[in-house]
Amino acid sequence: MPEIAKPRILSGMRPTGRLHLGNYVGALQNWIQLQNPYESYHFVADWHMLTTDYASTGELQTDTREMVTDWLAAGLDPSKCTMFVQSRLPEHAELHLLFSMISSLGWLERVPTYKEQLENVKDRDLHTYGFLGYPVLQSADILMYKPYGVPVGEDQVPHVELTREISRRFNHLYQPVFPEPEALLTPSPRLPGTDGRKMSKSYGNAIFLSDPPEVASKKVAGMMTDPARKRRWDKGNPDVCPVFDFHKILSSTEVVERVNRECRTAEIGCVECKKLMAHSVNEFLDPIRERRRAFEQNPNQIWEILEAGTCRARVVAQTTMNEVRSAMNLVHK
Ligand code: SF4
Repeated sequence: MPEIAKPRILSGMRPTGRLHLGNYVGALQNWIQLQNPYESYHFVADWHMLTTDYASTGELQTDTREMVTDWLAAGLDPSKCTMFVQSRLPEHAELHLLFSMISSLGWLERVPTYKEQLENVKDRDLHTYGFLGYPVLQSADILMYKPYGVPVGEDQVPHVELTREISRRFNHLYQPVFPEPEALLTPSPRLPGTDGRKMSKSYGNAIFLSDPPEVASKKVAGMMTDPARKRRWDKGNPDVCPVFDFHKILSSTEVVERVNRECRTAEIGCVECKKLMAHSVNEFLDPIRERRRAFEQNPNQIWEILEAGTCRARVVAQTTMNEVRSAMNLVHK
């Protein structure tokens, strides 16, 4: 029986080095689940990194290797999905350039993350041509593979909308080449950092997938709890406690129910609650650490997997660019 083609999806991640539990829950977990029902493409968005971190490229290769090691250790399987590096495919730059000709400035200035980052990022000058245009580059990354959908968090939905807009304009001006991909909203339960803020490498509040057990346990022991619960006998409120957010994601139903009940009556203290938490975190991370060790012993394997994925992606990218050049009359006849 002929194999039925799976719908294609595509998603990328900036190379930020080792990944933390927030990255896992926010995106990676979803990628791993989608690699069976979909034909998945996942790329290292290194050119995107340059739109904000253009002045510090020294760690780019190390960060790429570390991040992809975490992808693989967490369960992305190169026999099921295609992993590649954006900058290895100049076709993305060409499509970005062609899309930039038909993308209205108004569209880009209205992208909410553009305004937000201009206001919030103070340690770098983001008033650059590249930064304004990064959603166009993202549209090129996506449309190159003509995917059915793009798994994204809520904040990325406007980018997918822009991609659809660019697709429509291209198809209207030249020839119908591109689909209008759907935003596949990623369910991402709240997983705060150890200080209760959003988990982020730059806040120093992250638990990394590669943290050794003693490091992870120490971080859990230092986690913020319900601020109103000052003494052991004070009753707590797990609904405002970051430790409980972790339990809900990583602990068994039995432990979650126990903590939810005994915290409110002060039967369980925060020290014991955190010990249970550390156990759950380490139990979850153990198989990831083990797989990571195997990849660390042979780092060349990471580059080989990326090279094989890049070759597969190139076939699709070249086919799309042939169609694009022909639709725009950029081919000598
Ligand atoms: S017992 Fe657990 S859930 Fe309750 S405040 Fe302490 S750490 Fe948080």
